[in-house]
Amino acid sequence: MPFRKWLFTSILLTLILPGCTRNVTIKRTEFIMGTWVDVTVVAPNKKVGEEVVESAFHEFKRIESLMSNYKATSEISRLNRIGSARVSKETLEVINKAIAFSIQSRGAFDITCKPLLDLWREARFRKRIPTKDEIKEKLALVGYENLDIEGNKVTFKIKGMGVDLGGIAKGYAVDKAIKILKEKGIKQALVNAGGDIYVLGRAPKREKWRIGIQHPRKEKGILEVIKIRDRAIATSGDYERYFTLGGKRYSHIVNPKTGYTVASVPMSVTIIASDCTEADALATTCFVLGDKEGIELIDSLLGVEGMIVSEGMKVFTSKGWDSITGG
Ligand code: ADP
Ligand code: MG
Repeated sequence: MPFRKWLFTSILLTLILPGCTRNVTIKRTEFIMGTWVDVTVVAPNKKVGEEVVESAFHEFKRIESLMSNYKATSEISRLNRIGSARVSKETLEVINKAIAFSIQSRGAFDITCKPLLDLWREARFRKRIPTKDEIKEKLALVGYENLDIEGNKVTFKIKGMGVDLGGIAKGYAVDKAIKILKEKGIKQALVNAGGDIYVLGRAPKREKWRIGIQHPRKEKGILEVIKIRDRAIATSGDYERYFTLGGKRYSHIVNPKTGYTVASVPMSVTIIASDCTEADALATTCFVLGDKEGIELIDSLLGVEGMIVSEGMKVFTSKGWDSITGG
């Protein structure tokens, strides 16, 4: 073998071999924010892998303890109780982003819909559909423009208002977990919080990660396999959370304009975006907007693609969907 070629080959081997042989893939699953959270990382060894996975979960739990509606001690629960409170920079960031998504969606996405969500939750337990008057009364308390923000202090302009970050906080927690992993030197990872996903770098043995989108009507069926890296992908389905009252199916997403739970929601919405906060919020938004307006909104946004499956398994995709998901 000519010397130069031999040298080239040996350098290549030393560069690649350690990477191939020593790297390990570590995966852990925990139940947080009401859903199963998976963290998968490719790390130089088992010890480092387990440590970074631990810090990602730690971050996830930290965000949950700030923003959960189910934890009485969270900043959001406290704000909802007293109507005016100073919050952490993370909670403020999520509230500000949520307001921007409200403006962008002309009010379809609105974290102040909590009074309506509570009303419908109660209806579900009492097995009684709310009256028009009850809905009207709660609707008066809904509107992101009635959130007053001064510095880090959030104040409700109307007594009785409330916020619910259920449509955005999981995606934000995914982004924060990925940020921690990157800070720790991880180059390849996948974080999945019940369908709110971010894929960092290459997959363990492939250029891109393969993400299967759940078929909305076949429990073990896959609708489409997406090949992707360095992107967020959020899927929400009507099959996950709904309730039945008087033989009718009700969604867990409300229309902040009418006060009613969205009657004919899409079967499934998948959003691809550069961060998971946006993907999560947009997935919720598209449930309110429906297929036509949903795709219109997605097409108007830079770097965002989406797929909406409607009744009768009609599939709608944004203009750049095929080119971003296939390669
Ligand atoms: P999942 O993927 O877990 O079903 P979503 O991301 O679709 O969750 O968000 C649903 C949650 O968003 C609801 O449980 C509620 O907390 C909140 N929500 C419901 N309606 C709206 C709305 N119009 N705007 C913002 N958030 C909403
Ligand atoms: Mg969402």
